[in-house]
Amino acid sequence: MRWLDGKVLSRQIKKEILEESQAFQRQHRRRPGLAVVLVGDDPASQVYVANKLKAAAEVEFASFETRLPSSAKEADVRAAIEKFNRDADVDGILLQLPLPKGLSAERLLEGLRPEKDPDCLTVENIGRLWAGQPRTTPCTPWGVMEMLRREKIPLAGRHAVVIGPMAHLLLSADATVTICHSKTRDLSRITRDADVVVVAAGRPEFLGRDDFKAGATVIDVGIHRVPDPAHREPSGKTRLCGDVRTKEVEGWVGALTPVPGGVGPMTIAMLLKNTMALARAHAGG
Ligand code: NAP
Repeated sequence: MRWLDGKVLSRQIKKEILEESQAFQRQHRRRPGLAVVLVGDDPASQVYVANKLKAAAEVEFASFETRLPSSAKEADVRAAIEKFNRDADVDGILLQLPLPKGLSAERLLEGLRPEKDPDCLTVENIGRLWAGQPRTTPCTPWGVMEMLRREKIPLAGRHAVVIGPMAHLLLSADATVTICHSKTRDLSRITRDADVVVVAAGRPEFLGRDDFKAGATVIDVGIHRVPDPAHREPSGKTRLCGDVRTKEVEGWVGALTPVPGGVGPMTIAMLLKNTMALARAHAGG
């Protein structure tokens, strides 16, 4: 079985982006700029934002950050986004989700300029993607596609099963795509038929060996912090796991992403790639 190592691949992609970023700086006399708006104190979001900003620094992007308390009103968040909308040094704006209760991501994203949307979350950019004229591409699905492409896992004519939202890109790569969700009947029968399974159900370790055919490629998007039974209370030790029972499927499936170190680093690499593309468009090519 082959491990699909997102850390190694993302390092390669970041090296390519660094070269692009340096060429951009020589040509435009400024760095590509990524701004983050973080509302509240959700610990997972804090870690995600720190990782994104660290990766941005690695490719010599300028970064900008506005942190707001969880008591912030929608108008405060809108104003923070608007400030970055108008800032000529900012090419991409990241509104870190989820937002605290009471704030509507949908309404706030309406105020984000699609030309500065590296997460592909605005309605305009999602529409452009489906119309075949992408401005940016959703980072996690794109990271998965880039991983499959660089690892030379064939998709054309293959059966890809997706749990969660990433069907469009697989379809564009000529796979036959089945989309499953929480109301799907006999999920296991469907996933067992697949050559490639992308699991983003958000359920810790809910799929195992019996859910996959031998040799299938399994992409585990899920990431969860769960109590580690190897440590008894009150230590409260935790570990990270995905949606797949890794130990059980190891050696049975043909290729598998680890959690952590699989899809996560790819997502960040693609965020940088989207921001680089927006910077070029913003600077006029
Ligand atoms: P989501 O929007 O809630 O989507 C989950 C999908 O799984 C939905 O389509 C849901 O169906 C389906 N589902 C849930 N339980 C199911 C079941 N028992 N059987 C079949 N389908 C089921 O979640 P998300 O935001 O995509 O996140 C999913 C996971 O990916 C989370 O663990 C999240 O932390 C992780 N994630 C990782 C990255 C990364 O970079 N690695 C990025 C984003 C998310 P319904 O539509 O019917 O509810």
